[in-house]
Amino acid sequence: MVASPTRIPCAKPSITELEVRYAANAAAEGWGEQCYACIERFEDLFRAFVGTTGAVATSSATGALHMGMAALGIGAGDEVILADSNWIASAAAIVHLGAKPVFVDIRPDSWCLDPQAVEAAVTPRTKAILAVHLYGNLCDMDRLGEIATRHGLALIEDAAEALGSRWQGRHAGSMGLFGAFSFHGSKTVCTGEGGMLVSSDPAFLERVRTLANHGRKPGETRQYWASVVGFKYKMSNLQAALGCAQMERVAELVARRRAIFEGYRKRLEDLPGLAVNIEPPGTVNGYWMPTVVFPEDAGDIQDELMARFRRDNIDGRVFFHPLSGLPMFESRPENRNSYDIPKRSANLPSFHDITDSEQDRVAAVVREQYHSL
Ligand SMILES: *Cc1c(COP(=O)(O)O)cnc(C)c1O
Repeated sequence: MVASPTRIPCAKPSITELEVRYAANAAAEGWGEQCYACIERFEDLFRAFVGTTGAVATSSATGALHMGMAALGIGAGDEVILADSNWIASAAAIVHLGAKPVFVDIRPDSWCLDPQAVEAAVTPRTKAILAVHLYGNLCDMDRLGEIATRHGLALIEDAAEALGSRWQGRHAGSMGLFGAFSFHGSKTVCTGEGGMLVSSDPAFLERVRTLANHGRKPGETRQYWASVVGFKYKMSNLQAALGCAQMERVAELVARRRAIFEGYRKRLEDLPGLAVNIEPPGTVNGYWMPTVVFPEDAGDIQDELMARFRRDNIDGRVFFHPLSGLPMFESRPENRNSYDIPKRSANLPSFHDITDSEQDRVAAVVREQYHSL
């Protein structure tokens, strides 16, 4: 009898003595006059890291996207263009505002928005382009910026998966009108649940800060006085304490993601036609989630590949289903790459403390699948 190998999870945060100490301090001291101290510090550390003038901590990236798009006045009858290959959160925020998500195809190399498809999808009702940087890979921000400017659209970034990714030296999330980040337990920086909206537009930030505080304007002197109906998407001081510790370690957290990706790349580089996350010249990839895409002629191997991972007690994940293939949206099979790539792809476990021998086990499953084709 061979003992079944130990479980390799897909994701889990890196929590050290520093995070534990900060969280314990906040639990003991972070009340009364101190009840926003960690939140303010976390926002400062975060905006300094991504290079924006403002940052507003939220309860999730979904909340940041919802509130940010509300602050842009996006609502009923409006359209927002985004990639079909996506986590549902990005589309949910649009739907909650009564607007319509318009799903366009991804590029086969970056797995992000195809700018040509974006251009073709613009209508008089389009209000914004939502650039989601998938698995750490970056959208083509130059071309998307140019399209947005030409059509008078807002360019928004969902950088939930792209902390540490940079385009021509600029951080993901800092290039659009606003950017949203997630600190869910699977993400590079973790606060349990949590998010951040970043922007350098003072008027926009003022609207967001008002909406974020139940419609109470910053500096409002009357108690309990709301001037609009806002949101309650705040982060707690306790969560922010964890965030402060994680931001003090952010260089280490991103560097480790990059080292894990490099570990997989080396283990798999002799397999011709096996695609992985890309890092084009002029960019840095935060490599949130190392992903493999098997050659086009592999066919639909999703079930087989996931069964191999399960057999070896590895939590491999499927590439996002095309959102337009879900029951609540109109199907768009013409988004060929979005429908095709998930059939022959997988996300590989990439948590901070993964060991070399665990990476060996994951790579062995990928190699076995490759050689069975
Ligand atoms: C994780 C994620 C989100 C949602 O983040 P929450 O903090 O869970 O709301 C949004 N968009 C993308 C692309 C994500 O990966």
